Amino acid sequence: MSLRSMFGKLKGEVWMDGSRVMLIRNAAFASTLRMPAEAGLAKIEPCDKCGRAFEERIITTGGEGSDPAVWDAAPVAVDGWACATCDAVGYPRAMSAETSLRFGGAGIDAARAKKWREAEWWFTRIAWSWPTYAPAYLDLAQVLEDRLRNGFDTAPEAKRRVQRRMMHAYEQAMTEADAILIMLPDAGSWLHVRPTPYPSDRRARALAWS
Ligand SMILES: [Zn+2]
Repeated sequence: MSLRSMFGKLKGEVWMDGSRVMLIRNAAFASTLRMPAEAGLAKIEPCDKCGRAFEERIITTGGEGSDPAVWDAAPVAVDGWACATCDAVGYPRAMSAETSLRFGGAGIDAARAKKWREAEWWFTRIAWSWPTYAPAYLDLAQVLEDRLRNGFDTAPEAKRRVQRRMMHAYEQAMTEADAILIMLPDAGSWLHVRPTPYPSDRRARALAWS
Protein backbone atom coordinates (compact mmCIF):
# COMPACT_ATOMS: atom_id res chain seq x y z
CA MET A 1 0.00 0.00 0.00
CA SER A 2 1.41 3.37 -0.98
CA LEU A 3 1.74 6.21 1.49
CA ARG A 4 -0.91 8.11 -0.38
CA SER A 5 -3.41 5.28 -0.36
CA MET A 6 -2.68 4.77 3.34
CA PHE A 7 -3.43 8.41 4.08
CA GLY A 8 -6.49 8.06 1.92
CA LYS A 9 -7.60 5.20 4.11
CA LEU A 10 -6.98 7.21 7.26
CA LYS A 11 -9.31 9.87 5.95
CA GLY A 12 -11.87 7.27 5.03
CA GLU A 13 -11.20 7.70 1.34
CA VAL A 14 -10.47 5.13 -1.31
CA TRP A 15 -7.51 5.68 -3.64
CA MET A 16 -6.69 3.71 -6.73
CA ASP A 17 -3.97 4.05 -9.37
CA GLY A 18 -3.00 7.37 -7.77
CA SER A 19 -6.53 8.73 -8.19
CA ARG A 20 -9.04 9.43 -5.49
CA VAL A 21 -12.22 7.45 -5.96
CA MET A 22 -15.54 9.24 -6.00
CA LEU A 23 -17.77 6.43 -4.81
CA ILE A 24 -21.43 6.90 -5.68
CA ARG A 25 -23.81 5.11 -3.37
CA ASN A 26 -26.98 6.47 -4.92
CA ALA A 27 -28.30 4.52 -7.90
CA ALA A 28 -30.64 7.34 -8.96
CA PHE A 29 -27.77 9.82 -9.22
CA ALA A 30 -25.54 7.21 -10.91
CA SER A 31 -28.26 6.59 -13.51
CA THR A 32 -27.98 10.21 -14.62
CA LEU A 33 -24.33 9.61 -15.66
CA ARG A 34 -24.40 8.68 -19.31
CA MET A 35 -21.78 6.65 -21.08
CA PRO A 36 -19.53 8.94 -23.14
CA ALA A 37 -19.56 8.85 -26.93
CA GLU A 38 -15.97 10.00 -27.42
CA ALA A 39 -12.58 8.98 -26.02
CA GLY A 40 -11.19 10.87 -23.06
CA LEU A 41 -9.49 14.23 -22.77
CA ALA A 42 -6.11 14.86 -21.15
CA LYS A 43 -7.38 17.84 -19.16
CA ILE A 44 -10.53 19.78 -18.49
CA GLU A 45 -11.56 23.40 -17.96
CA PRO A 46 -12.43 24.53 -14.40
CA CYS A 47 -15.87 23.68 -13.03
CA ASP A 48 -18.54 25.55 -15.00
CA LYS A 49 -20.81 25.69 -11.94
CA CYS A 50 -18.45 27.23 -9.40
CA GLY A 51 -15.19 27.97 -11.25
CA ARG A 52 -13.03 25.74 -9.06
CA ALA A 53 -10.32 23.60 -10.73
CA PHE A 54 -11.48 20.03 -11.20
CA GLU A 55 -9.59 17.25 -9.40
CA GLU A 56 -8.93 13.82 -10.85
CA ARG A 57 -11.27 11.10 -9.67
CA ILE A 58 -12.33 7.62 -10.59
CA ILE A 59 -16.09 8.04 -10.64
CA THR A 60 -17.78 4.78 -9.85
CA THR A 61 -20.58 2.88 -8.20
CA GLY A 62 -18.35 -0.19 -7.76
CA GLY A 63 -15.11 -1.32 -6.16
CA GLU A 64 -13.96 -1.11 -2.58
CA GLY A 65 -16.65 -0.01 -0.14
CA SER A 66 -19.38 0.04 -2.78
CA ASP A 67 -22.92 -1.25 -2.49
CA PRO A 68 -23.31 -4.24 -4.87
CA ALA A 69 -27.00 -3.39 -5.34
CA VAL A 70 -26.09 0.11 -6.56
CA TRP A 71 -23.47 -1.32 -8.93
CA ASP A 72 -25.95 -3.81 -10.36
CA ALA A 73 -28.57 -1.09 -10.82
CA ALA A 74 -26.20 1.47 -12.35
CA PRO A 75 -22.73 0.15 -13.22
CA VAL A 76 -20.55 3.25 -13.59
CA ALA A 77 -16.73 3.18 -13.64
CA VAL A 78 -14.90 5.95 -15.40
CA ASP A 79 -11.72 7.97 -15.00
CA GLY A 80 -12.62 11.62 -14.88
CA TRP A 81 -12.72 14.65 -12.66
CA ALA A 82 -14.89 15.93 -9.87
CA CYS A 83 -15.35 19.32 -8.29
CA ALA A 84 -14.54 19.33 -4.58
CA THR A 85 -17.00 22.16 -3.95
CA CYS A 86 -20.14 21.19 -5.83
CA ASP A 87 -21.39 17.94 -7.33
CA ALA A 88 -20.11 18.55 -10.87
CA VAL A 89 -18.23 15.73 -12.58
CA GLY A 90 -16.44 15.54 -15.91
CA TYR A 91 -15.38 12.42 -17.82
CA PRO A 92 -13.83 10.52 -19.47
CA ARG A 93 -10.18 11.26 -18.84
CA ALA A 94 -7.69 10.06 -21.48
CA MET A 95 -6.50 6.49 -20.93
CA SER A 96 -3.38 5.19 -22.66
CA ALA A 97 -3.49 1.96 -24.64
CA GLU A 98 -0.98 0.46 -22.18
CA THR A 99 -3.22 1.32 -19.25
CA SER A 100 -6.28 -0.15 -20.96
CA LEU A 101 -4.35 -3.40 -21.55
CA ARG A 102 -3.31 -3.48 -17.90
CA PHE A 103 -6.91 -2.91 -16.82
CA GLY A 104 -8.03 -5.62 -19.24
CA GLY A 105 -5.57 -7.99 -17.57
CA ALA A 106 -7.04 -7.13 -14.17
CA GLY A 107 -10.51 -7.81 -15.58
CA ILE A 108 -9.43 -11.20 -16.89
CA ASP A 109 -7.91 -12.13 -13.53
CA ALA A 110 -11.13 -11.15 -11.77
CA ALA A 111 -13.23 -13.15 -14.26
CA ARG A 112 -11.06 -16.23 -13.77
CA ALA A 113 -11.54 -15.85 -10.01
CA LYS A 114 -15.30 -15.59 -10.69
CA LYS A 115 -15.39 -12.09 -9.18
CA TRP A 116 -17.99 -11.02 -11.70
CA ARG A 117 -18.69 -7.51 -10.48
CA GLU A 118 -14.97 -6.76 -10.22
CA ALA A 119 -14.34 -8.09 -13.76
CA GLU A 120 -17.26 -6.07 -15.03
CA TRP A 121 -15.88 -3.03 -13.23
CA TRP A 122 -12.54 -3.16 -15.12
CA PHE A 123 -14.11 -3.62 -18.54
CA THR A 124 -16.71 -0.93 -17.85
CA ARG A 125 -13.89 1.42 -16.91
CA ILE A 126 -12.11 0.72 -20.21
CA ALA A 127 -15.31 1.02 -22.27
CA TRP A 128 -16.25 4.36 -20.71
CA SER A 129 -12.79 5.78 -21.47
CA TRP A 130 -12.64 4.21 -24.96
CA PRO A 131 -16.29 4.11 -26.02
CA THR A 132 -15.39 3.29 -29.62
CA TYR A 133 -13.19 0.31 -28.72
CA ALA A 134 -15.14 -2.81 -29.71
CA PRO A 135 -13.05 -5.37 -27.78
CA ALA A 136 -13.88 -3.71 -24.45
CA TYR A 137 -17.59 -4.39 -25.09
CA LEU A 138 -16.87 -7.96 -26.13
CA ASP A 139 -14.95 -8.56 -22.92
CA LEU A 140 -17.72 -6.94 -20.92
CA ALA A 141 -20.41 -8.98 -22.67
CA GLN A 142 -18.48 -12.16 -22.13
CA VAL A 143 -18.01 -11.51 -18.42
CA LEU A 144 -21.76 -10.93 -18.11
CA GLU A 145 -22.45 -14.12 -20.05
CA ASP A 146 -20.12 -16.06 -17.74
CA ARG A 147 -21.83 -14.50 -14.73
CA LEU A 148 -25.16 -15.78 -16.03
CA ARG A 149 -23.80 -19.21 -16.90
CA ASN A 150 -22.31 -19.57 -13.43
CA GLY A 151 -25.70 -18.86 -11.86
CA PHE A 152 -24.39 -15.91 -9.86
CA ASP A 153 -27.77 -14.17 -9.96
CA THR A 154 -30.77 -16.13 -8.80
CA ALA A 155 -33.67 -13.65 -8.73
CA PRO A 156 -35.41 -13.52 -12.15
CA GLU A 157 -35.26 -9.72 -12.32
CA ALA A 158 -31.54 -9.72 -11.46
CA LYS A 159 -30.90 -12.25 -14.22
CA ARG A 160 -32.91 -10.26 -16.74
CA ARG A 161 -30.96 -7.14 -15.86
CA VAL A 162 -27.64 -8.89 -16.49
CA GLN A 163 -29.02 -10.37 -19.73
CA ARG A 164 -30.10 -6.95 -20.95
CA ARG A 165 -26.69 -5.54 -20.14
CA MET A 166 -24.97 -8.43 -21.92
CA MET A 167 -27.08 -7.97 -25.07
CA HIS A 168 -26.41 -4.25 -25.00
CA ALA A 169 -22.64 -4.82 -24.70
CA TYR A 170 -22.70 -7.25 -27.64
CA GLU A 171 -24.66 -4.73 -29.69
CA GLN A 172 -22.18 -1.97 -28.84
CA ALA A 173 -19.30 -4.25 -29.82
CA MET A 174 -20.91 -4.90 -33.20
CA THR A 175 -21.70 -1.23 -33.74
CA GLU A 176 -18.13 -0.15 -33.03
CA ALA A 177 -16.62 -3.02 -35.03
CA ASP A 178 -18.85 -2.05 -38.00
CA ALA A 179 -17.76 1.57 -37.68
CA ILE A 180 -14.11 0.53 -37.95
CA LEU A 181 -14.80 -1.74 -40.91
CA ILE A 182 -16.60 1.05 -42.75
CA MET A 183 -13.85 3.59 -42.06
CA LEU A 184 -10.94 1.30 -42.85
CA PRO A 185 -11.47 -1.44 -45.43
CA ASP A 186 -8.36 -3.27 -44.15
CA ALA A 187 -9.45 -3.19 -40.52
CA GLY A 188 -11.09 -6.60 -40.78
CA SER A 189 -7.76 -8.36 -40.92
CA TRP A 190 -6.45 -6.12 -38.17
CA LEU A 191 -9.37 -7.07 -35.95
CA HIS A 192 -8.86 -10.77 -36.61
CA VAL A 193 -5.15 -10.83 -35.88
CA ARG A 194 -4.90 -8.48 -32.91
CA PRO A 195 -4.09 -10.22 -29.62
CA THR A 196 -7.16 -11.09 -27.63
CA PRO A 197 -6.50 -10.59 -23.92
CA TYR A 198 -9.51 -12.71 -22.96
CA PRO A 199 -9.05 -15.82 -25.10
CA SER A 200 -12.33 -17.01 -26.40
CA ASP A 201 -13.61 -18.74 -29.48
CA ARG A 202 -16.84 -16.81 -28.86
CA ARG A 203 -15.01 -13.55 -29.36
CA ALA A 204 -13.41 -14.85 -32.57
CA ARG A 205 -16.86 -15.87 -33.83
CA ALA A 206 -18.34 -12.52 -32.89
CA LEU A 207 -15.63 -10.68 -34.79
CA ALA A 208 -15.90 -13.03 -37.76
CA TRP A 209 -19.64 -12.41 -37.82
CA SER A 210 -19.09 -8.65 -37.97
ZN1 LIG B 1 -17.95 23.16 -8.86
